[in-house]
Amino acid sequence: MSLIVQKFGGTSVADVEKIRAAARKAIRAHTQGHQVVTVVSAMGKNTDRLVELAYELNERPPAREMDVLLSTGEQVTVALMAMAIESLGYKAVSLTGAQMGIRTDNTFTKARIQSIDTQRIQGYLDAGNIVIAAGFQGIDDDFNITTLGRGGSDTTAVALAAVLGADTCEIYTDVDGVYTTDPRLLPEARRVEVVSYDEMLELASLGAGVMHNRSIEFAKKFGVPIHVRSSFSDTTGSMIVAECESESSPVCGAAMTKNEARVTILGVPDVPGTSLDIFSRIADRKIAVDMIVQNVGTEGRADLSFTVPNSELAVTLEAARDAIEKIGAQGVSYDENVSKISVVGLGMAQQTGVAHRMFSALAEAGINIYMITTSEIKISALVPRDKAQDALRVVHNTFKLDSVAEDARNWSRIQHDRSQTADLQSVVATLQDDTLEKLTLTDIALVPDQARITLLGVPDRPGIAADIFADVGKSGIFVDMIVQGYDGEDGTTSVSFTVPKADYANSRTVAEALCKKFNLRGTEGADDIAKLSVSGIGLRSHTSVGTIMFRTLAQAGVNIQMINTSELQVNVVIQSDKAAETERLLRETFAESLRS
Ligand code: ADP
Ligand code: ASP
Ligand code: MG
Repeated sequence: MSLIVQKFGGTSVADVEKIRAAARKAIRAHTQGHQVVTVVSAMGKNTDRLVELAYELNERPPAREMDVLLSTGEQVTVALMAMAIESLGYKAVSLTGAQMGIRTDNTFTKARIQSIDTQRIQGYLDAGNIVIAAGFQGIDDDFNITTLGRGGSDTTAVALAAVLGADTCEIYTDVDGVYTTDPRLLPEARRVEVVSYDEMLELASLGAGVMHNRSIEFAKKFGVPIHVRSSFSDTTGSMIVAECESESSPVCGAAMTKNEARVTILGVPDVPGTSLDIFSRIADRKIAVDMIVQNVGTEGRADLSFTVPNSELAVTLEAARDAIEKIGAQGVSYDENVSKISVVGLGMAQQTGVAHRMFSALAEAGINIYMITTSEIKISALVPRDKAQDALRVVHNTFKLDSVAEDARNWSRIQHDRSQTADLQSVVATLQDDTLEKLTLTDIALVPDQARITLLGVPDRPGIAADIFADVGKSGIFVDMIVQGYDGEDGTTSVSFTVPKADYANSRTVAEALCKKFNLRGTEGADDIAKLSVSGIGLRSHTSVGTIMFRTLAQAGVNIQMINTSELQVNVVIQSDKAAETERLLRETFAESLRS
């Protein structure tokens, strides 16, 4: 018998009528002969309301009590949903996270799932019930109620689909699928029929709130196909699967993280181990840091900038101040009025000039870029918040995201291909119960023979990045990582990029020319560097990965020259003579997480 997991988000169960409509959808699947597990969120904006109540009573509500409070939202909906189904003449049973045996760690408000006791759920299903599961919650080893983080019901749904070996996981929501960007922000956004796990994972962690990013980690790890669709109609939506929509398009989607904050640690002593001190303190607080850029130091000191969600700024600054004291840095500055605009696409890994296209589009719109970071399949630019909406629009336009590429796969093609290959049961058979949301690494690789070019004293004005990479692109140099730091107190910034070692001499010449043309302070470079990449799933949200890497590098006495992080990879650029040894150490350290 086939099994379907359905999930209804807050707006889809906002009132009695909507709950009844959702109940009918569950019943329909049941009468079609499927076993049905229905995961529900809190009704409408109930979770927000509970959060407000908590803050009215306590500026810093204890995280444990927050979870007890927030989990009640879902508990209301499961009971009502079960009653609705029963009144329509079918058997249903509601279960809270604890009743389903969803075991999590004890990180209140951001807990990770460790195991799920499928026997109870399966028993109820086999007895002919529709099982109504409370989203976004679990229980830790001490019987404390935990929650998985805002938006976490998606993760409950996909996790249940994975452990129960469901044939599909349907996410019913208030949009009819995944769009090229949030359709509420840009009406010209287009619904895609297919998006790949890797792309969705990055998009979700960069602001595409349609799916909880950790749900995509599950889906990818266990090969669960996800169907995102409207709860208000019966039309098909978008499939999230291994394949992408178009191989020729460099970009599949754009996202905005509106409320981002930039933090700069000033005058960090440029010696191994300082990054560890800073980032481990932040990671311990389970805050995911993004856009890490270290400016090339002068007089043995460097400025280290990164971004965090604005809501985590206060805690981040607390951690930063602790670290500053310890390592003897000179201070901290921050900017709360910034937004991050990102583009994502599997296709960009194979194409050159994608970053340049993004910078040019922003330049033409007169939008200044404060910071830039790139990784394999994403490019992020930090912009002033009051320009973020414009920035999203010009980027969306420039990559023609509103139109379908010629080689686009549609859903029926993917379904046809999948029916030839899909073998979900074998994936499920490999599941080990206590490893559900554990860190999974797929590879640690060393890319030797790299070189770094740094442009110093780059004026902070709209268009400068576009101008620089136009000239670099014209010279035929293949650029890999790009970072632009926050401009220091003197109104200038530095831009670094990596190229193959073979292109080093040529790149230095181009850099010298750029230096004259734009009146830069100077250029700098190194041709004895290597890139170390750690690949896996959900690396940014597993905040410990960075800490472990920094610790290993510090122990090996290695200085990090550049770094970029994404959900799929963490790359560090280091001196080449220590690279092989560092790779060995990393393999040793991460041995347990490396999936062979
Ligand atoms: P639910 O309560 O059903 O979980 P959410 O509000 O969490 O719903 O997610 C749906 C919302 O996600 C949509 O209303 C839409 O505004 C937003 N969204 C953000 N990015 C995207 C995107 N790329 N595609 C579709 N929707 C998106
Ligand atoms: N109710 C929770 C929230 O609003 C979980 C969810 O809806 O996914 O964040
Ligand atoms: Mg949601």
